[in-house]
Amino acid sequence: MTQLGYLEGDTCGRDGCEGVVESHRVVNCSCHISPPCGACTAPRGYCEACGWEESEDPTPPLESYKGKPWQPPEPRPLDPSKVDWRFVPHTHFSMIKDGVYPPHMSREEVEREVRGTFGGRFEQFGNGRFKYIAYTD
Ligand SMILES: [Zn+2]
Ligand SMILES: [Zn+2]
Repeated sequence: MTQLGYLEGDTCGRDGCEGVVESHRVVNCSCHISPPCGACTAPRGYCEACGWEESEDPTPPLESYKGKPWQPPEPRPLDPSKVDWRFVPHTHFSMIKDGVYPPHMSREEVEREVRGTFGGRFEQFGNGRFKYIAYTD
């Protein structure tokens, strides 16, 4: 079976093609926001000699789909001996701080700990647990 080229500099090899695989330049790279970005991970190989485009190749079956479905890692357990929370995305302007607090603390004391720069409000508070909507903007 012929070896097909995918990476820049490989020999193409499609139907005996002797062209050299090149890569399209990355456009609209947004790695500064979340690397690696879609533009950088999208297939970019192409061969000028035969017109092959990696992005037009049928997607190869992914081995990983045969195994167990991917599970998100267990979240870190919260520590109820202090005010402790994890962030849950809420809207563009706020985050939910979903957390725990020691029972001896009052709502005001807990709020002093969780209130961010832009303030916020409790959506739920009681029995050692709270949800605090924190404004981020
Ligand atoms: Zn990028
Ligand atoms: Zn080719």
